[in-house]
Amino acid sequence: MTMSRFVLAATLALAPLPALAATAHPLAEAQALELGQKIMAMRSVRGPGNETPKVAAAIRDALVAGGWAASDVEIVPMDDTAYLVAQWQGSDPKLKPLVLSGHMDVVEAKRADWQRDPFVPVIEDGFLYGRGATDMKIDDALMVSSMIELRRQGFRPRRTIIIALSGDEETLMKTGQILAERFAGAEMVLNADFDGNGVLDETSGKPVLYTWHGAEKTYADFELEVTNPGGHSSKPRLDNAIVQLSEALVRVGAYRFKPEVNDLTRAYFASSGLLQSDPAMRKAMLAFAADQTDREAIGVLTGAPFMYGMIGTTCIPTMVSAGHAINAQPQRATANVNCRIFPGHQPADIMAELKAAAAMPQMTIRDVTEGSIASPASPLRSDVKAAIEKAIHKVYPGIPVIPAMSLGASDNMWYRSKGVPGYIVSPLFVKASDYHSHGLNEKVPLANIPPAITYYTSLISDLSK
Ligand SMILES: [Zn+2]
Repeated sequence: MTMSRFVLAATLALAPLPALAATAHPLAEAQALELGQKIMAMRSVRGPGNETPKVAAAIRDALVAGGWAASDVEIVPMDDTAYLVAQWQGSDPKLKPLVLSGHMDVVEAKRADWQRDPFVPVIEDGFLYGRGATDMKIDDALMVSSMIELRRQGFRPRRTIIIALSGDEETLMKTGQILAERFAGAEMVLNADFDGNGVLDETSGKPVLYTWHGAEKTYADFELEVTNPGGHSSKPRLDNAIVQLSEALVRVGAYRFKPEVNDLTRAYFASSGLLQSDPAMRKAMLAFAADQTDREAIGVLTGAPFMYGMIGTTCIPTMVSAGHAINAQPQRATANVNCRIFPGHQPADIMAELKAAAAMPQMTIRDVTEGSIASPASPLRSDVKAAIEKAIHKVYPGIPVIPAMSLGASDNMWYRSKGVPGYIVSPLFVKASDYHSHGLNEKVPLANIPPAITYYTSLISDLSK
């Protein structure tokens, strides 16, 4: 998961709200911390020694001790990793299942680069440090402990609840794809992967805003290439691959895709626009929510990188490679253009648009994307909206709860591409300056644990009863 929501936090005009002291679930809170630390100590990184199967085993053991039949928890090994499926049978077989999704693998972390060993979780100053603190082993532990708490309380779901944890979300994304195929008939997916959902005020540390995400942009890479017969640089041809590719890239760089909205981003601009302290940004967000052809609003939004990503498809050159000798006419010049495609478009159509924008007949373009698929925006369902607002307001009363779109990719894309609505609903609240997913010294405030259990037990029971 990628950084997103915090760019917005810096400009919020809201007064922070106090958090409720919630210690309603002491057993689950203790278990979430213990299980979280246990699986964070496992090096679930792709490659030799990948301990993702050990993470799966630890989660299975917790579920079985918490009342799941051993036969209802399945671990499927795949290459050096594994995925986990745990079922809690609902009382009404006519209802489609609710899938709770997460991933057990983490991004590589090198001991030499960190202040502490990334795979020895440490508690210090109210934070839990270690790889997976926010992305996303604590989230896994919170979700699993909340499910165990629901069973402990005697809850009986009407709808079958499936915990589906992938094992390679940070790399190949094959297991998420397999899980989505298997549960293509699900009612919906709640994904616990933190994407900057809860925002804490930088100064006071109090919760100010919560966003949940029902759509994500589609990741794509296109390779642009110009070739040339080449030759000695003392006898230059008039056509030069580097010059031709450069001309094409200048036009691609200047090209703007048509600004657009879906139900989620319209709601996002309308509701978070009201919270902006910068009058120009506030005006632009509200104007864009109402009219996606408002040139002035588009100009302001395009100037803020996060907002530019929210108003439509973006494509930027990210790498170039050209030439084979300093004294030769270049035979080949290639560039990678990385696109983040607005939901509702196919990569092939965006590629055709880029080719036209480049206006260079000698240039070829091909899709070299790996591990991604186009997915539509999920509907802004009123039952989901109500359940999330209720759960957040149980622990943070009065806080704005805003639907949004993720700029990065998650396992949800596999489900959405099969027609299953998917929502990112992590209950973590973090300051922008403390958010280090994929980075060094990843950490999570321990104060998240009690409210997260209250949130999950409310949300999961509401959407499965
Ligand atoms: Zn993640």
